Amino acid sequence: MLKKDVIDQYQPTIGIECHVQLKTKTKLFSAVDNDAIGKEPNTVVSPICFSLPGVLPVLNEAVVELAIKAGHALNAKVANFSKFDRKHYFYPDLPKGYQITQFDQPIVGKGEVEVPLDGEIIKVGITRAHLEEDAGKSTHPAGADYSLVDLNRAGTPLLEIVSEPDIHSAKAARAYAQELYYLMKYADVSYVNLFHGNMRFDVNVSVAKKGSKELGNRAEVKNINSFKAVEKAAEYEIKRQIELLEKGEEIVQETRGWDDSKQKTLSQRGKEDAHDYRYFPEPDLPPIVITDDEIEKVRSNMPLMPNEWRKELTAVGLDKPVIEEVLAFDAEDERVSYLGVFEILRDDKELAKKYANWVVNIFGPLQREKGMIITDNARILHTVKSVYDLVMADKLNSTNAKQLLRELVMLKHSPSDVEGYASQKGLIQVSDAGEIEKIVAQVLKENEKAANDVKNGEMKAIGFLVGQVMKNSKGKANPQMAQELIKKQLGV
Ligand code: MN
Repeated sequence: MLKKDVIDQYQPTIGIECHVQLKTKTKLFSAVDNDAIGKEPNTVVSPICFSLPGVLPVLNEAVVELAIKAGHALNAKVANFSKFDRKHYFYPDLPKGYQITQFDQPIVGKGEVEVPLDGEIIKVGITRAHLEEDAGKSTHPAGADYSLVDLNRAGTPLLEIVSEPDIHSAKAARAYAQELYYLMKYADVSYVNLFHGNMRFDVNVSVAKKGSKELGNRAEVKNINSFKAVEKAAEYEIKRQIELLEKGEEIVQETRGWDDSKQKTLSQRGKEDAHDYRYFPEPDLPPIVITDDEIEKVRSNMPLMPNEWRKELTAVGLDKPVIEEVLAFDAEDERVSYLGVFEILRDDKELAKKYANWVVNIFGPLQREKGMIITDNARILHTVKSVYDLVMADKLNSTNAKQLLRELVMLKHSPSDVEGYASQKGLIQVSDAGEIEKIVAQVLKENEKAANDVKNGEMKAIGFLVGQVMKNSKGKANPQMAQELIKKQLGV
């Protein structure tokens, strides 16, 4: 076990490469369906995906616009000129024997991302982002002496985003990965479904004694597809490397994998250098030339980015943790847009704030636990407004408002008369003075001692009496009104 003072002598340095699958209808170089989810193996493929002799790739124009958008999201310089190259390696799921990628002239150049971490902002430089094709998938059936190859994913457009080694803790690595996810989600360039591998992180970790000018040898942990695993893998690597160095051993530059069940990284292979890939320019594709006007046109149509959403949410008076939770819930389910609804409500600050709190306390948790049933914005909007109106009209107390929302969210269809529904469920607050007066009189008769205490100036007892009124009215009485009527009847 490493002691904390030993760990503190080292500075970890982390850089992250992230492969983002772009949300196009068709693949990067062929007009075949780009959606492989749930499809039989090798059914969304063209001769290009199989790289049969004589086929020629044609660039999907939609990919260029998505790459420009991503470039803006990364605060990066979009290149006026970029080109494709061949990267050679031999693997069954890459039938050409090379991957078409971008080597020395990527479509996106230097940029910078602001990452919230523990209430502060850290800045992570972007080295570059380049376009490339995804490979197929190999599976190795247990006990079989063969492997299976599925090329449905071969040719899916990827944007590989490379960060500067600006990250210095496992927690910061996770925060950066999560921020990239928001950036790609809100720039609308990817479905960002981590479970389906829409974003895959390669985490490069090295450690060096603090104050030393050189970085240590690094290990690259490949193909991580959750934020938690990014953090855990970085944490594991930092410890592993410090332990080796403390024993006087060397860190081998290598590629490692993350074993989620064992929560450790495992050596896979020695790390290749660029020359091992024998890169050369792709002769079958022309370069991508983009004018400044085209770049600016995309910029002027950019949707709100996560930091802009944070500003909007701050403006209605929400705290940072609530804001981060709204973003997380919003990004989690492709079918709902809590922020889209927020945008409609934000001019009414009080309503917008209440709504955001309901997202965090009711909609989000229900979505996570049960799979939210309301999946269209119009219905969320209608539900929220109806309930809010009832609250403002003093017909619902806040406990019952939450209860009502929970029930409405789980219904297949919204009731046309929300107030009628709420009153049927006994949630509508009684603000009818006559009715409450009767209950108060009853409660005062049954609780003479507490009533006398209040009369004698012991105001603590009034809470008990209000509680009794609430109980007798089955939670429906307006508690403020109950309190006033108790005082009135007791003459205090
Ligand atoms: Mn790559």
